[in-house]
Amino acid sequence: MKKKWYDYLWIWTIIYFVLGFFNILFAWLGMIDFLVPLIFAIVGGNKHFCNTYCGRGQLLRVMGTHCHCSRNKTTPKWLSSKWFRYGFLIFFLAMFGNIVFQTYLVAAGAGSLKEALKLFWTIRVPWHWAYSAGFVPDWIAQFSFGFYSLMLTSTLIGLIVMALYKPRTWCTFCPMGTMTQTICKLKHRKEK
Ligand code: SF4
Repeated sequence: MKKKWYDYLWIWTIIYFVLGFFNILFAWLGMIDFLVPLIFAIVGGNKHFCNTYCGRGQLLRVMGTHCHCSRNKTTPKWLSSKWFRYGFLIFFLAMFGNIVFQTYLVAAGAGSLKEALKLFWTIRVPWHWAYSAGFVPDWIAQFSFGFYSLMLTSTLIGLIVMALYKPRTWCTFCPMGTMTQTICKLKHRKEK
């Protein structure tokens, strides 16, 4: 079957991280991946984004299937269990809330800009070369560092479980996937 432009969105995922390496402000572009799936779910009641436009899901498939980086072992059942998926979603949203709170503190002058990433929510990685102080208000940069950390951490987790289990194991507990699935279910229940 002839490939369409959206079959190459996995390249965009790579470009996103490369851009953020050189200039952290590009991290804001990740909000597209955050908002578009929600719009599809709320307006259309479907998971069209996951099935067609998700660059991360595609990247995991390309790495795992075409590049043979996955052991292709059965994904443990607990990773796709309800309690784990919803627990991870709550944790993920709490971490996002913390990013917003840190951004607020910087905007309010109660905190200073931290030019570093937090990988896996714990490991501090200096990233100061990716931002020139004063270019934009500090809170904009603070959100960038926080959001890029979140995007990179979740992609790394996706790559780890891709290597250990099936290529798209991440999708079984991806917070965006859980969120859009829940919205679609609620929407369809309402329409009945
Ligand atoms: S579940 Fe997450 S990573 Fe997988 S396709 Fe959907 S949004 Fe992308």
